[in-house]
Amino acid sequence: MSKNSNLLIITIDSFGSDQVSKMINSDMFSNFNNLLKTGIYFSNSVSSSDSTGSSLGSIFTGKYPFKNKIGHFRFNSKIKTLFDKLSEKEYSLYSITPDIMFFMELTKKFTKNIHYTYDERESWNGLNHKIGNQILDELNKQNKKSPWLLYIHLMDLHLPLKVPKNFNYNKNISNDFEKILCVLDFWIGKIIEGVDLEKTTVIITSDHGEYVPVVENLDVEIPNKLKGLKKNLPKNLTDTILTFLQKEKRKSIIRKNKNKLNEMENRTLLERNDVYLYDQIILTPLIILNKNFKQGKIINQQVRHVDIFPTILDILQIKNEEIIDGISLKPLIMEKKMDEEIAVIETAPKTPKEEVGKIIGLRTSDYKYLRSRKNSNEYISLYNIKLDPLEKNNIKNSEKAIVKKYERLLSKLLKDENQETVKEFDEKCIEEELKKLGYM
Ligand SMILES: [Zn+2]
Repeated sequence: MSKNSNLLIITIDSFGSDQVSKMINSDMFSNFNNLLKTGIYFSNSVSSSDSTGSSLGSIFTGKYPFKNKIGHFRFNSKIKTLFDKLSEKEYSLYSITPDIMFFMELTKKFTKNIHYTYDERESWNGLNHKIGNQILDELNKQNKKSPWLLYIHLMDLHLPLKVPKNFNYNKNISNDFEKILCVLDFWIGKIIEGVDLEKTTVIITSDHGEYVPVVENLDVEIPNKLKGLKKNLPKNLTDTILTFLQKEKRKSIIRKNKNKLNEMENRTLLERNDVYLYDQIILTPLIILNKNFKQGKIINQQVRHVDIFPTILDILQIKNEEIIDGISLKPLIMEKKMDEEIAVIETAPKTPKEEVGKIIGLRTSDYKYLRSRKNSNEYISLYNIKLDPLEKNNIKNSEKAIVKKYERLLSKLLKDENQETVKEFDEKCIEEELKKLGYM
């Protein structure tokens, strides 16, 4: 086991690479830029899916969702996670994650968990409210038994967004979303300051990106006339009202603006877990801090969520015996040549009733190929990512040979699809959660 074997993993929900590009080289986000200067930054890390459970399931098992059958609505305990591997190596496991069933299941065997209440959204300010200080407390605790892992999942960037109050915002900030990124930047600085980098490897990544609506007023609140009632209403009900109001508001914004917005602006009104997998959703940042690695290195080669699990084990010098889809990125970090691997990408189910999502496909640094999960002739799209990075032109009709080639590759990979039925979480609990998250 290597000496710097403690591990801090932070996954930031909905933090896509397009948001990262707003932060890079901007004075307003100096902590984030310092982080990039201290670590290895993978600028083309491809998520396996467009939803939290399936993306994180793939980060922590090294397997694609169609193989591990882990998602927002179901957990497959037969598959070994990174945390199982660390536990076998006598790691003490700590977490700070939302009280959503997926995370409760993922952290079930941990030494200590802080499952923060995601439900109190109106007063909920994430990092700046209390989670930031809780993280610093956990990092500072001297009695943590080494080696340890601290796993943190942040919901600060998850829709519907809330702009934290009581924060000293830079005067140059022009919109609400930048304000939220500023708070994230501040706390990234604080957290990294609290880490002993001599003994700790830090991994920062995200589950997926998000369509942040360009026309949405992010600061939606319960109207005053309902506020008086609030104290007497059960907690979940106030949240349901708020979610309903926000959904309705969003719908009316869409109705009003649809014709005024250009193609790319209209795309920001899409929702995840449907039939789209634009790069905005599946490109996520991956940052690794380890004192033995060259600082400030940027790796532009395409890598994948499934590569994170074997990379972490490789860094910690823990042997991997699982059959997985990913490969360790350590050679790439050590400046050895590695061939680019094809990434499989899929949409996640929208409801617990659907066992799999609607769309599956492949991404390379040249092309993205997508089609319906059930029927290889439906919903076909092919984008030339090199020439058309915004994925505006579906070239499936003019490039039939490429479609054919990619379909052959995909159907070969899908032969290994896990066909077993994995039981979903309790239906009532899921319904409650979807309301909490604003999906119902
Ligand atoms: Zn998510």
